[in-house]
Amino acid sequence: MELKTLEAYLDEEAQDLTSKCTKCGKCFEVCPMINFTPLKGRESVPVVTDLVNLLRDGVWSDAVGTWAQACTGSGECITHCPEHINPRKMLSLAIVKTRRRQSAQGNNPAAGFYKRMSQTIHLLVGLQMMPERYRGLTGRHADKKEAEVVFYLGCNVLRTPHIVFNVLDLLDALEANYVVLGGVSNCCGIIHLKFHGDVDGADRVTEGTLDKLGAYRPKTVLHWCPSCVLHFGETTAGFRSVDFEFQHVTRFLVERLERLRPRMRPVGQLAAIHRHDAGLGVAEDVETLLGAIPGLKLVHLEDEARWAYTCGPLGLNLVPDAKKALHQRMLESARDKGVDMLVNLYHSCHRDLAGFEGEYPFRILNWTSLLCEALGLESHEDRFKRYRLLKDVQAVLEDAQEFIRANRLDPKVVEEILPNLLN
Ligand code: SF4
Ligand code: SF4
Repeated sequence: MELKTLEAYLDEEAQDLTSKCTKCGKCFEVCPMINFTPLKGRESVPVVTDLVNLLRDGVWSDAVGTWAQACTGSGECITHCPEHINPRKMLSLAIVKTRRRQSAQGNNPAAGFYKRMSQTIHLLVGLQMMPERYRGLTGRHADKKEAEVVFYLGCNVLRTPHIVFNVLDLLDALEANYVVLGGVSNCCGIIHLKFHGDVDGADRVTEGTLDKLGAYRPKTVLHWCPSCVLHFGETTAGFRSVDFEFQHVTRFLVERLERLRPRMRPVGQLAAIHRHDAGLGVAEDVETLLGAIPGLKLVHLEDEARWAYTCGPLGLNLVPDAKKALHQRMLESARDKGVDMLVNLYHSCHRDLAGFEGEYPFRILNWTSLLCEALGLESHEDRFKRYRLLKDVQAVLEDAQEFIRANRLDPKVVEEILPNLLN
């Protein structure tokens, strides 16, 4: 039987969603990002009518293009849709059409993103880990051909490798039978789809990665990256059938929490979580995991992280004014509440926030670091934060010498783009 192309799949999804949409406008009205765009104050019904016309009949609308480029995946619209359809998926389909049109016209602002991202990851990996360690994370030289669990990294968490090492320690503590797969050659396909509007490229990448994951014959594939969760679990859900279940690594740990609990040591501190939710359940799971640490008190912040599924390039980063305002309020709220630490969920939030540690009187760390500390597991140094806090390019080059040599990086290239790398 001939397999359906991604193009055909996306078209069918568009027809299905638009046939159920009554164009009531509720999704537009509750979207927190509209206030940060020129669409602020616009009537909702004409914009959602344009959205339906674009998805159903391919009729272009600047308003929908603007909305799609500001959609940070918050999912606020999903809970408000009276028809119980998924407006976020409609906006995902609209951004594909927007990027495709921009690419055809030669004015796609996200053009070349995959290449730039690959270079950035390559250099940041090269500044923080030895080459043999990296090969082990990308499926090359894997000693196991099959495993019950695949820990699927996606691409970008490798910019902050200490997070990956922390999760590996947690899986080891649970004696999980697992392999790891990640890196840009194992991308989920979201970059081709939502940045480049390259549906054929996304088809190849998405299918290729699903095949590689399936080749390990796992029962479970553990997600880390929320963008991969949305790509496989929502935007392309059902495009290909697989013989394993996807689960987020936080859920896997929560389900095994009773095995970790007896090993936990007291941490008598006050912590706040930077909570993106977006219906993914990760924030709740992290709260459950950290709530099991004896002595740790969790406090809620004034934090509008619900405005986006992450701080990263397809999340709050799309609306820099919103991101700046949100981070400012959250950091001040954390200071006012006297927290000892501000805990983030994802790699992209960590990259954005880690550099503030020098400016506020609390630690900024990923939840994996805190959980590993509480369990008495080996602490993996957060080199990304260390480099950020060094601030000076020469000081970073000096500090990273061992890795630069081992990975044969050109110090001149590193020097040139380091300020961008650490932002
Ligand atoms: S997912 Fe969030 S940002 Fe995107 S359209 Fe819905 S409410 Fe707006
Ligand atoms: S809230 Fe639902 S039914 Fe109303 S316009 Fe949005 S997608 Fe359509």
